Amino acid sequence: MKVKSIFFLGAMLVILASACSGNKKNEADQTKLAEVDTMPFEVEAERFADLQVLRYQVKGFESLSLQQKQLAYYLYEAAMCGRDIIYDQKYKYNLTIRKTIDAIYSTYKGDKTTDDWKKFEVYAKCIWFSNGIHHHYSNKKIMPEFTQEYFANILKNCDSSLLPLEGTDIDGLIKTLTPKLFDPKIDAKIVDQSAGIDNIVASANNFYEGLTQNEVEAYYSKIADKNNPTPVMYGLNSKLVEENGKIVEKTWKVGGMYSKAIEKIVFWLEKAITVAENAEQKTSLEKLVKYYKSGDLKDFDDYSIAWVKDINSRIDVVNGFIEVYGDAIGKRGSFESVLSMKDMEATKTIATIAAEAQWFEDRSPIAAEHKKKEVKGITAKVITVIAEAGDAAPSTPIGINLPNSNWIREQHGSKSVSLGNIVESYNVVSAKSPTLKEFAHDVSVVERAKKYGALAGNLHTDMHEVIGHASGKINEGVSTPDVTLKNYANCLEEARADLVALYYVYDQKLIDIGVMPSLEVGMAEYDNYILNGLIMQLTRIKLGDHLEEAHMRNRQLVASWAYDKGKKDNVIEMVKKDGKTYVKVNDYAKLRDLFGQLLKEIQRIKSEGDYKAATALVETYGVKIDPVLHKEILERFEKLNVAPYKGFIQPKLVPVMDGDKITDVKIEYPTQFSEQMLEYGRKYNYLPLIN
Ligand code: ZN
Repeated sequence: MKVKSIFFLGAMLVILASACSGNKKNEADQTKLAEVDTMPFEVEAERFADLQVLRYQVKGFESLSLQQKQLAYYLYEAAMCGRDIIYDQKYKYNLTIRKTIDAIYSTYKGDKTTDDWKKFEVYAKCIWFSNGIHHHYSNKKIMPEFTQEYFANILKNCDSSLLPLEGTDIDGLIKTLTPKLFDPKIDAKIVDQSAGIDNIVASANNFYEGLTQNEVEAYYSKIADKNNPTPVMYGLNSKLVEENGKIVEKTWKVGGMYSKAIEKIVFWLEKAITVAENAEQKTSLEKLVKYYKSGDLKDFDDYSIAWVKDINSRIDVVNGFIEVYGDAIGKRGSFESVLSMKDMEATKTIATIAAEAQWFEDRSPIAAEHKKKEVKGITAKVITVIAEAGDAAPSTPIGINLPNSNWIREQHGSKSVSLGNIVESYNVVSAKSPTLKEFAHDVSVVERAKKYGALAGNLHTDMHEVIGHASGKINEGVSTPDVTLKNYANCLEEARADLVALYYVYDQKLIDIGVMPSLEVGMAEYDNYILNGLIMQLTRIKLGDHLEEAHMRNRQLVASWAYDKGKKDNVIEMVKKDGKTYVKVNDYAKLRDLFGQLLKEIQRIKSEGDYKAATALVETYGVKIDPVLHKEILERFEKLNVAPYKGFIQPKLVPVMDGDKITDVKIEYPTQFSEQMLEYGRKYNYLPLIN
């Protein structure tokens, strides 16, 4: 599962796909890193269309051992070698289109000062950002703002030796591409989940060919063994096609579909095996190679189990066909790789909080009979990303919880990680964002957010995960919340975890255990949470809609309940200034008390399975939006021209060679998004145009 992000004040709120589980790790080997910050690192790189391109830093890379650096380098190459796969998975003609765009962008001989050329440049960058012609978030085809004639013209005026002309000429290429790029009706959406249509036929991705949804579903219901408690993830690593009246799975493996790229991935993984940090990691990588060679999904499960057991390594990697969001029926995995190193310091904070889980539970404002006698904090880790590829780049998750196989999660556990340096880069941008200035009540809020917002956000996330979801118990004889609270279960579960975090983020205890310097961190978090819950998250909702998503409902519920119940003491105030609405926290201690009261009530609802109270609470506070306020917020936000989507330029690992021996690995931080995209296009260009 991927965890997505939203941007608000200095801090960032995390949308969690589910309650996260994690593994208890051996923290004994933690060492403090000697960090030397020499020059300021420029996070912001470029802004175009609805996108902003950022950079992230890999602090601590230099302090890795040579063996770890070599390992990272081999895994880095293994990640990059899969780049062509994601393009082809997303759309059958993406590789042809990308190669054409790369050739034009790098060798067009005409005038590069015209508006049309600028439009082409933006278009090219959008395609690279989305790994194809469909928008990475909306799934809709990205429409060029230049004309078909202009496209033909620039195509004819670039170095034709770089164009993908296999089996055709320039006119043939123009003829092939023009309708695909310019006709909004052809292959309009990469994934179309609309109700009442054939979602497989309507989706432009390259996961199925010549098949209807009924045929695909019939095929899988025939092969799936419903009584098997440990089923493989059918369809995860293949394209399903109709050939001569038969349904055929074209498996992505060495010797199968995408073989040329997968062979390269395997080549680098095999090198990585020779420098693995320990036996568990070696086994895990060996099983990954075995799976890439066999294409057998049982081998993938074996690998996933071994990967979950590899918890003591400093370097970790996700490499494979993982997330299934790109497939309308959620079977086929998109290629991705996330290469990382464990952030020892940040992981220590999580461990410190987890170690105090019982202290927090004992002093929680929930009713005594709903407390756990023995609570075990969940341990997760914070990683420093070294590089991302495939579906995880340039747009990235901020949290990952894998593997996706349910029975493996239950029987063998899972890894829950947050991408610390990615979050850090987002925080740098959010702190400078005009959004903060526009919506914050006064400058003290802005200053506090700049100073403590990032830390507050991290602590909130840590406590939400580690002690929030882990807290409380259900009364004997009461069913699980999905049964008792039904459609409100998720929203109230997220509210409960948030409230535990909110209650303790303004507690001296966090200062005493050394994870925050002062209660001002808690104040920053309260400012942020209330502002977000009452005002800022409305920027993501269309006028006239109400709140649907569980996390958004939860945040409004918590904020507006506290506003309502604190009215008589003026705990939170809605202030009007120059026709604009602001929200102001007047009494932080009282607000904390209100959070405690609501936590107690929501825990009661969960413990007793009180559906009636759940309904009243969520429907009263978590769903409806004041249309007048909503309109005002949307108008203010639009004027700010903030890029809704962000992604990253990747760091580059460069080996230092002595003969054929690697003596060191240097990390470089490229600054030009287009240059990186063109370089990748030249270097990791392994697949034929049509696969
Ligand atoms: Zn959660």
